[in-house]
Amino acid sequence: GVVPPIVLNDGSLIPQLGFGVFQVPADQVFDTVTAALNAGYRSIDTAAIYENEEGTGRAIRHFGLPRDEVFVTTKLWNADQGYDSTLRAFDASMQRLGLDYLDLYLIHWPVPAANRFVDTFRAFQRLKADGRVRSIGVSNFRIPDLERLIAETGETPSVNQIELHPRLTQPELRDYHAEHAIATEAWSPLGQGTVLDDPVITRIAGEVDRTPAQVIIRWHLQLGNVVIPKSVTPARILENFDILGFELSADQIQAISALNSGSRTGADPETFAFGL
Ligand code: NAD
Repeated sequence: GVVPPIVLNDGSLIPQLGFGVFQVPADQVFDTVTAALNAGYRSIDTAAIYENEEGTGRAIRHFGLPRDEVFVTTKLWNADQGYDSTLRAFDASMQRLGLDYLDLYLIHWPVPAANRFVDTFRAFQRLKADGRVRSIGVSNFRIPDLERLIAETGETPSVNQIELHPRLTQPELRDYHAEHAIATEAWSPLGQGTVLDDPVITRIAGEVDRTPAQVIIRWHLQLGNVVIPKSVTPARILENFDILGFELSADQIQAISALNSGSRTGADPETFAFGL
């Protein structure tokens, strides 16, 4: 069995549980993505800056699924923001991936001070109109960034991929997304592993007889988040996909959400401008 997909605001379907390849070395990514596809994942999240698009695409092609049975996401890096540079960066990513269309293209960071994300998204609109990408979205956008993007392009992104885990539950952004039919995709969904040994998580894991990682992934799924845990360890790749057959109670969901302390493991989207 698989988790049912989420319907995006453009009508496309995204698997609710996918696989992320941040920090997977280029020479390991073929084996890692192959293990994920073998485990049953049908959505893979990479980015130009991860420097592993080539091996990711090769693994997807080599695995041999019909193209429409795997959902592929990549991201435009900060240095490539701007209309023409976005079109060029997209071609380069597609060349590395070896695919003829992309399922989801994301602006990796808003870099608000650079003031280029509106032009960047206009290039995304063109790529979508040309059929080269099915869905367009953003990552690490704050509410003011989303408001400006929607006002100036007339298009609501389909996805905002943000840091989201039990210690950073993002209630304001999740509410805004719900009001605007933007899917919330959680990055570092396990807090990069730092939240797995929290006593609340381990207590609930005991109650439902599952692992801490499975409990946290289940929490995301029951909240409606798209979730893309990462591992290079085959047993954990399987473990993180084996989340059917149990449910968290409303009290358990609440107890996990109450771990929110607003603490980031990653960069602050207001100021992050690496690459520029
Ligand atoms: P994550 O929260 O998925 O944590 C991954 C780490 O948790 C692993 O390296 C391992 O140490 C540990 N882990 C995973 N499964 C485990 C298990 N079953 N048992 C014990 N430990 C386990 O962190 P992440 O990789 O940072 O985030 C997931 C994906 O999100 C990335 O691979 C990437 O695709 C995406 N991402 C996007 C952005 C962005 O700016 N858009 C930033 C960071 C990550």
